[in-house]
Amino acid sequence: MSFVVTGATGQLGRLVIEHLLDRGVAPDTITATARSVDRLADVADRGVTTAYLDYAQPIDGALKAGDTLLLVSSNEVGQRFTQHSAVIEAATAAGVARIVYTSLLGASTSSHVLAPEHKQTEEAIAASGIPFTILRNGWYSENYRPNFDQAAASGAFAGAAHDGLVSPAARADYAEAAAVVLTTEGHEGKVYELAGAPALTTAQIAQEFGAALGREISYVDLDADAFAAQLTEAGLDEGLVGFLVAADTNTAEGTLHSTSTDLQDLLGRPSTPLSETVATWAAESEAGRSAAGA
Ligand code: NDP
Repeated sequence: MSFVVTGATGQLGRLVIEHLLDRGVAPDTITATARSVDRLADVADRGVTTAYLDYAQPIDGALKAGDTLLLVSSNEVGQRFTQHSAVIEAATAAGVARIVYTSLLGASTSSHVLAPEHKQTEEAIAASGIPFTILRNGWYSENYRPNFDQAAASGAFAGAAHDGLVSPAARADYAEAAAVVLTTEGHEGKVYELAGAPALTTAQIAQEFGAALGREISYVDLDADAFAAQLTEAGLDEGLVGFLVAADTNTAEGTLHSTSTDLQDLLGRPSTPLSETVATWAAESEAGRSAAGA
């Protein structure tokens, strides 16, 4: 069996390759692809094949007949469907045996601002006729790192997520689940809703920050307009303000919450609770303060 991982210079792609190697996959059966192959030198040093694959350029040579392809969704929001379609077409032409795609929780019905391009991609994969598995990834715990850093610096952070629940898991959990799906049988045609546990409101996330930092952290819940005004005042550009406000509005709507146990079932263990990820951030910030002599 041969595997191709796209977006291998990205954080998720790298972790998937680590997990494939940890699971005993022979390095020379893995092709790590990226648009900057020179940034994969460390992976190549471990015997993994590397290849150029830019979603926005003609795709030639990176995909072969019989490959199992992990298509890591592009981070170029707005361009994603076009880019993913190009990869799906190239996979079809090459005779790829299976596509595993990293989508978004509830993509087919979600009102989340990021859902439409994922839904379109899922539909294009299904229409290609190539056997597929869809990994509908929930929110990464790591998305809360900027909030944590702000809270550590000021004792508070703001948002417009109201009482919406989120089911976050560590990025490494989603990567491990992908490696499981790539290397084991029985996943054809499956759509996995990958949600972490426990689910939390943003106020509860602030409590987790406080517990890890050993002091009170407040979550200041604003309406969407007030949150947008605060972000604009902080100097964020219009596009980012729009995205962050939409993401919080979507959180309030519950789009990042699910009680599915697909993630835990694939891992064969509980997912990493947010508290555990936050504890590592607190330890890092404590180590940073000690190193600075604070
Ligand atoms: P990263 O931003 O770390 O990595 C994104 C990867 O996509 C990089 O390798 C990047 O390449 C690659 N990429 C972007 N554009 C192209 C292109 N035109 N051709 C080839 N590769 C391209 O994100 P993560 O690894 O953390 O996450 C993986 C994906 O998951 C993201 O791309 C995004 O779609 C999604 N995501 C999901 C989140 C969630 O909470 N569920 C949160 C964040 C992202 P390069 O290194 O050259 O830029």
